[in-house]
Amino acid sequence: MAKENNVLFVIFGGSGDLAHRKLYPGLFQLYLKGSLDQHFAVIGTARRPWTHDYFRQGIVSQLSKGTDEQKAAFVSHFYYQSHDVKDSEHYVALKKIIDQLDEKYQLNGNRIFYMAMAPDLFGTIAQHLKSENLLSDRGYDRLIIEKPFGHDYPSAHALNQAIIETFDPDQVFRIDHYLGKEMIQNIPYLRFGNPFLSAIWNNKFIDNIQITLAESLGVEERAGYYETAGALRDMVQNHIMQIIAMLTFPKPEHYTDREINQSKAQVFASLPVYSEAEVAEKFVRGQYGAGSDQQQLAYRDEDKTDPQSNVETFVAGEIDLDLPDWQGVPFYVRTGKRLATKNTRIDVVFKAEEHPLFTEQTPTSPVLTIEVEPESGVLLQINGKKIGTSNFIESHQLSDLLDDDQQELVPDAYERLLLEAVLGKQGNFAQWEGMAGSWHFVDAIRAAWAKEFQPEFPNYESGSMGPKAATDLLAKTGRHWLYQG
Ligand code: NAD
Repeated sequence: MAKENNVLFVIFGGSGDLAHRKLYPGLFQLYLKGSLDQHFAVIGTARRPWTHDYFRQGIVSQLSKGTDEQKAAFVSHFYYQSHDVKDSEHYVALKKIIDQLDEKYQLNGNRIFYMAMAPDLFGTIAQHLKSENLLSDRGYDRLIIEKPFGHDYPSAHALNQAIIETFDPDQVFRIDHYLGKEMIQNIPYLRFGNPFLSAIWNNKFIDNIQITLAESLGVEERAGYYETAGALRDMVQNHIMQIIAMLTFPKPEHYTDREINQSKAQVFASLPVYSEAEVAEKFVRGQYGAGSDQQQLAYRDEDKTDPQSNVETFVAGEIDLDLPDWQGVPFYVRTGKRLATKNTRIDVVFKAEEHPLFTEQTPTSPVLTIEVEPESGVLLQINGKKIGTSNFIESHQLSDLLDDDQQELVPDAYERLLLEAVLGKQGNFAQWEGMAGSWHFVDAIRAAWAKEFQPEFPNYESGSMGPKAATDLLAKTGRHWLYQG
């Protein structure tokens, strides 16, 4: 076992939803697979006065797979510390238990601090970790941060400054869980592992790329947060931008984390800052109304939303990158709540080839589709001859979707990213430079929207694929969304 796998996790927000639904099950998988062995410990902190036992029982109840013995052995490594992150005194108690566990489990001073709580407290925590001497004097210190990372560029910048006063940039791991998804991590393997794809992965051969992150649920219990965020901040600024970077980052000379991130930084630096006129032309927003059967509430009627709310639950737009290989290739992106289906997918649409062979018809555009979820895999739509004596051409689909047994093997995004943080691998974590570029892009759109007349919301029905304007966005160039829900 590598020395870095001996590690103490300190989870701030240890009684919360994220910790219970994602972090503890992710750690359990690492334990079952042997990436964490006897030399690890977890301290969960939150304000409530829980006992270790109560904390452990709550964790066991969230674990699937594994035997009762495995679960019991796993949670015996968990400790609970009642802790108000704003109270300096509490860090003294926390330091004591950190030191005890470090010795008990021989953790070599390796520490990962996980901020599983509201971002406005991240700066306070980072500051106290330093001032109250909770940082290691011999192993590594790493900080994992959740989204949202700010709500615009100035707030993200201030947050980053607060963090880097304590942690060096290479100690900060900003989670974007889309980067932990199997099919998103598959993108560079497809791009660089197949010469026939890498040769045509550019504007000479690609007509457009479509990215859809469709959700069928509404805002559910997150309405309070959503009222301050909206789809553009919640999904485009982070997940969609990271997917674009994965699709387009120039091939690094060496495939190291540092070079990958430098290469991705070029993509983020090439994002445009649209003028108001460009925003009006290239971006549309929407908000869901009730379904046609009136079974679902309109966004404005949901609990904790403003009845006059102008928050967007849908965004579609065109993003143009200023990179030599991608000039002239529109990236059409789309995300929304209460859409017809839940689906994340990427369609890479190649240019259609004119050729004298095809006398009767024009071939359709070949398409490479990456199905991210709920199905996972790759589809290739190619042209071929229609069987028979005519010279008709038709579209064929080659399909490589994961079957149920393969799906079982796919690690959850948090399991994978937690392991990468333990190993100190930064390649699948969001970097500050990228975030900054992405916030500048998003802020320009928000600023333009703020100046517009009030949008006519709601403008799409629950259960549809969004407002008509999203269809028109592509139709005006003769294109259409390949995925229709
Ligand atoms: P939550 O409200 O369920 O948990 C918050 C935790 O912080 C609780 O343990 C609470 O006791 C603790 N806490 C709050 N104030 C505190 C204080 N002053 N001192 C000590 N502890 C305090 O929230 P969550 O859903 O777990 O989300 C946590 C963070 O992760 C948020 O930033 C959220 O945006 C982000 N996030 C959550 C999810 C998710 O699936 N839940 C997904 C992506 C990002």
